[in-house]
This record gives sequence, structure tokens and C-alpha cells, in this order.
Amino acid sequence: MGEEKLNVPVCQKKGELAPFAGALAPSSDTVNDLICRELIAEAKKMMARAYNPYSGFQVGAALLTAGKKIYTGCNIENAAYSPTLCAERTAFFKAVSEGEREFTAIAIIGGRKGLVTDYTPPCGVCRQVMMEFCNPKKFYIILARSEEDYWLYRLDELLPMGFSPKNLER
Ligand SMILES: [Zn+2]
Repeated sequence: MGEEKLNVPVCQKKGELAPFAGALAPSSDTVNDLICRELIAEAKKMMARAYNPYSGFQVGAALLTAGKKIYTGCNIENAAYSPTLCAERTAFFKAVSEGEREFTAIAIIGGRKGLVTDYTPPCGVCRQVMMEFCNPKKFYIILARSEEDYWLYRLDELLPMGFSPKNLER
């Protein structure tokens, strides 16, 4: 137990350790535990910004660009329901509208009335938006309950055989 605590929780996915589990130095240019924690902290802050009068469910997201900038988002609901936007897409559209096109990872955290009791996976529509802008084998999705408690997935694990701009090139 004590040993595990020294070896801070590593980037994991269910069932097996991710390829870089625990081994990456903070200076790594890809996702490591430090980066995951920072993104989760930013996502958690965004939960308070959620506009959620209908579901009471607050979601925060923090999106990391290839240039190491972070764009955040929260869910924004609407009385007509269908115009509702998820936190993940809010973050993506903020970033894309600022000219960003390359992304490394997104952290997502959510819960009813701000209470995080479980992981909050992205909906299908958000996965599809990720597919538009991200390499599914290189883009990471961090599903968090806290900075210390998260799962890490690649996009191709959460959206196998996704339809992407490449399909239109054939
Ligand atoms: Zn969504």
C-alpha cells in the first residue's frame, strides 16, 4: 500500500496499464500523470460554470492542444432541450474558433449538483466531434472522479471504427 502511494496513481485504463504507465517524466511531450491531474483540476473548476437548470447535472471539460494550451468548457442547457451543448463540445468549439486544430487530450468530470460520484463518459455526439479534429490513436480522454482517480482512454477505444474526414477522401 505504502509503496503504491509513493508511485502516484498512473495513467491507467480499465484492466491494464497504459503503455506509458507511471514511466513518463513530467517533461514528456505527451500525456502523463501530471498533465492528467492539471487537466482534471481545470475541468473540475468548470463544473461550477455549468448552466444546467433542467438536469441539475454539472460537467466540466479541459482540452489540451498540441501547443499545450488549455481550453475549458461546461455544459450549457436550453429550455428547448435540443440546443443544449455538452462541456466537451463547448471546449472544442472555443478552441477551434480560436484557430486551434491539433489536440492531445481532454479531461471530463461531472456530477449532479456538483457532487462527483462516478465517471462521466462523453456522449456519442462529442466523440464524433473529437473524431473530426483528433487522431483517434493519439488523442486521450481522461474520465475523472478526482485528480487521483481517473481512467485514461484513447479515442479509438471509445469510438471504434469512427467516421472521420479520411472517409471522405476515398
Ligand atoms: Zn456530449
